[in-house]
Amino acid sequence: MNDAAQPSLWVLIPAAGLGRRMGTALPKQFLRLGSRTVLEHTLSIFLEDPAIRGVVLVLGVGGDVPSVGTERDRGRLFEVPGGAERADSVRNGLEFLARRGSPQDWVLVHDAARPCLPPEDLERLIRTLMKDPVGGILAAPSTDTLKLSDEEGRVQETLDRDRVWRALTPQMFRLGLLREALNAARVAGVSVTDEASAMERQGFRPRLVEGSPMNIKITRPEDLDAARVYLQKQNRLGES
Ligand code: C5P
Repeated sequence: MNDAAQPSLWVLIPAAGLGRRMGTALPKQFLRLGSRTVLEHTLSIFLEDPAIRGVVLVLGVGGDVPSVGTERDRGRLFEVPGGAERADSVRNGLEFLARRGSPQDWVLVHDAARPCLPPEDLERLIRTLMKDPVGGILAAPSTDTLKLSDEEGRVQETLDRDRVWRALTPQMFRLGLLREALNAARVAGVSVTDEASAMERQGFRPRLVEGSPMNIKITRPEDLDAARVYLQKQNRLGES
């Protein structure tokens, strides 16, 4: 148990996806980027931050435990089996944390497939939200004009670009409230693709914290080239 005035910070990394859109035999989180796999890059961002109490890694069947971090880091790394959808994998991780942490603790959920998160964005997210009653997400303002389509593939509406953001991760919420929100979405049969939308369903308004557009989610083969460039810019690519 920890002091209620000092909530712990946990990180939960869903890494149990198959990444079919990549078209590779290996899921995208296990592909190599320079000296490490995508997942190892992602993990190292959090293991290098002493403010993080522990990292829960949600792995699919046969998912390799990454060789990253010192033995001390290993004591801060936990593995949990994944679920059918991303939200199921996150719920498995939250159930594990519920047995270790307090409902007031913060959980930062971050996609394994986002290895280019700049450490300064992580620090800004934590600093901005630490005292927030709800929590929030890293997000990037849209640079494109966005259109909402109708059923026939025609433009129904043009969205106000000044108010449109792309949701990134980490998404940072209280362990207790996030667990309730994801369980409620499941019971209602609603499929949520991020944590914020589960919280929104419960009537909360998560804060948007501006983050770098470099924090891409590797989805298609060309994203690997972009990720290489972004990691190089941050001096984190290493030797191949
Ligand atoms: O499929 P998508 O790109 O949205 O996946 C985002 C993250 O969620 C990835 O890190 C992926 O490994 C993870 N995921 C998971 N369990 C699933 C599906 C996706 O942990 N069943």
